[in-house]
Amino acid sequence: MKVSIGFEIDERVAEIARRTTEFVRDVVISEEQACDGNVHAGPEPLRRRLQGAAREARVFAPHVGAKWGGLGLDLCGQAVVFEAAGYSLLGPLALNCAAPDEGNAHLLEVVATEQQQERYLRPLAAGEVRSCFAMTEPAPGAGSDPRALTTTATKTDGGWRIDGRKWFISGADGAAFAICMARTCGGPGDAGGATMFLVDADNPGMKIVRNIDTLDQGLFGGHSEIVFEGCEVEDTAVLGEVDQGFAYAQVRLGPARMTHCMRWLGVARRAQDIALERAADRSAFGKPLAELGMVQQLLADSEIDIETGRAVLWRACWELDQGRPAAQHTSIAKTYVSEAVNRVVDRAVQICGALGISGDTPLSRLYREVRPFRIYDGPSETHRWAIAKRAVRAARERRAIR
Ligand SMILES: Cc1cc2nc3c(=O)[nH]c(=O)nc-3n(C[C@H](O)[C@H](O)[C@H](O)COP(=O)(O)OP(=O)(O)OC[C@H]3O[C@@H](n4cnc5c(N)ncnc54)[C@H](O)[C@@H]3O)c2cc1C
Repeated sequence: MKVSIGFEIDERVAEIARRTTEFVRDVVISEEQACDGNVHAGPEPLRRRLQGAAREARVFAPHVGAKWGGLGLDLCGQAVVFEAAGYSLLGPLALNCAAPDEGNAHLLEVVATEQQQERYLRPLAAGEVRSCFAMTEPAPGAGSDPRALTTTATKTDGGWRIDGRKWFISGADGAAFAICMARTCGGPGDAGGATMFLVDADNPGMKIVRNIDTLDQGLFGGHSEIVFEGCEVEDTAVLGEVDQGFAYAQVRLGPARMTHCMRWLGVARRAQDIALERAADRSAFGKPLAELGMVQQLLADSEIDIETGRAVLWRACWELDQGRPAAQHTSIAKTYVSEAVNRVVDRAVQICGALGISGDTPLSRLYREVRPFRIYDGPSETHRWAIAKRAVRAARERRAIR
């Protein structure tokens, strides 16, 4: 039996990654001051300018198929390019591969009808509009347990009426449309019965009631609370099949978890590079910090975290690219990378001392940006719970075969 395990990067991917690295270094980083770290309220002209520059640099929309004007990379290719983009918080926005638009584009490519693709995917892929994905609800509604979904969609003549409340909906402010998850049969606690709906932002039944004040400030449009009240949509607004929403959520969430890992690994690399530079330049007790054993340990542990995170991420991406159900691999990668990235940024702050707390380097901003990643896309505890359950199930199956 021939077994091959390879980490070679395809030439085209390597070239796009090289261009992305140069683009982020030469164009994007100098724009970081333009929004003073607060990307939530980032000005629309900045987004347009960055995306225009990314187009010129031929790195725009690496994840979207060529039919929609993108570079059509698979997940393994995206892993390399998105990490390069993630070196700046503005990099993914410039390449149009930031959350939630990137995950929504993928979902629309896989699930939407041709008409829906023309209406929603084409402008989204081109960066003409932004979008949001509305699933999470305040308690007692859907959170880490999506089955708790309380938002309902009731059949009307020729359409549906959506009622419910969502919160932490990233990018909602300024989005042209939302993909809203609502219950079309059963009740909270049921494992099925959810449907996805495409809701235009000018629908009078969908209202942003507030933009939530959060620890992070790095996502264009921020995070909003939205109310759906008598929100009427036509039958053509159903994305995919009725009652299949939870299955489609996995189509979106599996890869979307991985793309978050890719982008945040870029942030980890940036933090570690700042720490390495500081450790080489700053001296204490007669030697550079880089020659003090405990600083060396911090630096080494961060290298280990970045390399290990990348390895588990690439493995999960490879599984997904093979079309395999990769739930265990994506859970492991998401849990590991989200925690590793937090450790790396924390160590970088420590190595830089007071400088790391200041706004004189990007570290303090990166510190607050990475914390929420241990909560969204499934909190670490939810993933560990699922990882253990799958491991126990597999062990039982192995025992039954013996
Ligand atoms: C910055 C940010 C952006 C977000 N963007 C979006 C978005 O665009 N769209 C959207 O729909 N949602 C979004 N979310 C919401 C996110 O998906 C939820 O926060 C997440 O699913 C967890 O749900 P919850 O906050 O309701 O936590 P809860 O479900 O209340 O869980 C709270 C805690 O309980 C523990 N827990 C949960 N499950 C288990 C378990 N099985 N075993 C042990 N402990 C467990 C964990 O410690 C968890 O953190 C975003 C959240 C954040 C922070």
